[in-house]
Amino acid sequence: MSLPSSARSTWTQHRRVGEADVYSLTDGQFGLDGGAMFGNVPKVLWERRAPADHLNRIRLRINPLLIRLGGRNILVETGFWDGGDEKFETIYALDRDETLFRGLEEVGLTPDDIHTVINTHLHFDHAGRNTTLLGDPTFPNARYVVQAAELQEATHTHERNRASYIPETFQPILDAGLFDAVDGEQELLPGLSVLPVPGHNLGQQAVVLRSGGQTLVYTADMLPTLAHAPYPYITGYDLYPVTTLEHKRKYLPQWYEAGALICTPHDPDVAFAKLVEGKKGGFELVAAE
Ligand SMILES: [Zn+2]
Repeated sequence: MSLPSSARSTWTQHRRVGEADVYSLTDGQFGLDGGAMFGNVPKVLWERRAPADHLNRIRLRINPLLIRLGGRNILVETGFWDGGDEKFETIYALDRDETLFRGLEEVGLTPDDIHTVINTHLHFDHAGRNTTLLGDPTFPNARYVVQAAELQEATHTHERNRASYIPETFQPILDAGLFDAVDGEQELLPGLSVLPVPGHNLGQQAVVLRSGGQTLVYTADMLPTLAHAPYPYITGYDLYPVTTLEHKRKYLPQWYEAGALICTPHDPDVAFAKLVEGKKGGFELVAAE
């Protein structure tokens, strides 16, 4: 039995949010251990939401976001690292059925046209294409926005987080002086902000776009897929799961009240979602109409 296939079309999906054009791109599919993705939630509960293959892997997608606002092109996340050997790609069941670059091309852009890259964090499945395989910045005209705490974490790893970071994806950006390390919540453009959501690690940030009375949130790995909306559904990868829980309890009610469009980094099927009230309290995520 192989990995269940993703229902999402590989094509870029577009939404207008106030003054902004937002495009959900995709950099392909991969698989991770379902038990690790759902932490201490038993498989009998999570497998209804995310069927697993014979190696217990669930299907995930890599979903970067392009925001065009005020004449600026902002890329949220840069995709999955492309420099792994065959063993690496087999472990993660990497399937490049689409790439970030083809998605940009569909919108009529090249990497040179990106003004700002937002790294939610520097794990290789989120910041993997910050650099080319030759070791150059992939987006040479961009500033790369990251939390200072994340740069610190990525450059001072320990045994529990080391496998998530590949220095080739961020050291050349550091060397070229292209990182803008921010500390806490920061507005990058009118209506576009980064928002710290620690828990998965210390330096993770979400992205919040508010324009024309509408709100869109890119959740980073606080909500890796739609299935992670319930409060206790927290991944086993999270270094600080109770911190994740605190931030879900703080922000999910706010985003629900705002009727926000929700974009997750790894949902296999859905590009744009909405929060609805859960049957037993808390929230669920469903595809937005
Ligand atoms: Zn991830």
